Amino acid sequence: MKQIALYGKGGIGKSTTSANLSAALSLAGHSVLQIGCDPKRDSTRMLMAGRLIPTVMDLVRERGASAVTPQDVVFTGFHGVRCVEAGGPEPGVGCAGRGIIATFQLLEKFGTLTGDIIVYDVLGDVVCGGFAMPMREGYAQEVYLVTSGELMSLYAANNICKAIQRLAARPKSRCRIAGVICNAKNMPREEELVAEFARRVNSHLIQYIPRDRTVQLAELDRKTVIEYDPASEQAQRYRDLAARVMENSRLTIPTPLEIDDLESLARQYV
Ligand code: SF4
Repeated sequence: MKQIALYGKGGIGKSTTSANLSAALSLAGHSVLQIGCDPKRDSTRMLMAGRLIPTVMDLVRERGASAVTPQDVVFTGFHGVRCVEAGGPEPGVGCAGRGIIATFQLLEKFGTLTGDIIVYDVLGDVVCGGFAMPMREGYAQEVYLVTSGELMSLYAANNICKAIQRLAARPKSRCRIAGVICNAKNMPREEELVAEFARRVNSHLIQYIPRDRTVQLAELDRKTVIEYDPASEQAQRYRDLAARVMENSRLTIPTPLEIDDLESLARQYV
C-alpha cells in the first residue's frame, strides 16, 4: 500500500489536485482512501458531490471517541473513493496535530487504513502546528509538494523540504520527497522554473498541471474534473499524474535551498 501526502502553501490547489488524483486512481482500478486535514473540511467535497462530510474531530468532541463508528467518519464518494475529514479546531487556532493523530488512531482501530493507496491532503501551514504529523508518525512516506512558480509557493515548498530533511534524519524514518507537482498559474517559463527548483532540492517535476477554466466549471458543478469532463485535456493531466504516482519509486531526501538561492533562482525566470 502506498501512503502519499500532498503538501503546499494554502490556496495552491492541494484539495483540487488530491480529489482529482483520487478520482483518477480509482478509475484506474485502485482502491483509494483520501484523508483531508484542514478545518475547512473541503478536501473531499468534490468527491462527495459538494457535500461537506462530518469531521472526526467534531464527532470525537461531541460524543467521545468510543461512541464514533466507521460509518460516522468514512464516506464513499465518486467511483468508490473512501473519504475522511480529520477537521480541527476553529480556523486559525491550530491543534498541534491532535486532529490528524486522533483520526489516524481511530481509523487504525477500525481497520480502515487500507487500500492500494492513501492520499493525505494536509494543510501545509506551519502555523497550524500539526502539519508535520503525518510525516512524523510514519503515515506519509511519500511526500508530493504542490507549488506554482510564484515565489511564495516556492518558499512554502522549500520550507516543507526542510521539514522532510529534518524528519528523514531520524532513525527508522521512512519519510521522503517523491516529487513536485506544478499547479500552474500560467506564468511565463513556469514549468521550467518549477522543474529547476525540483532538481535543486534533489527531486523531480512529476506533473505540470496548467491553469484551466474547466477546474472552476467542474467545482461550480460540485465535481472533480475527472467526473465533470473526462474527455478534457485537464482530466488527462490528472490521469497522467495518477499513473506516474503509482509507478514512482524515486524517493529522496531533499536538499532545501537557502533563501537567497531560491530568490536568485526565481529571478532568472522572470
Ligand atoms: S493538524 Fe492542523 S489542519 Fe490538521 S486537524 Fe489539526 S489544525 Fe487541522
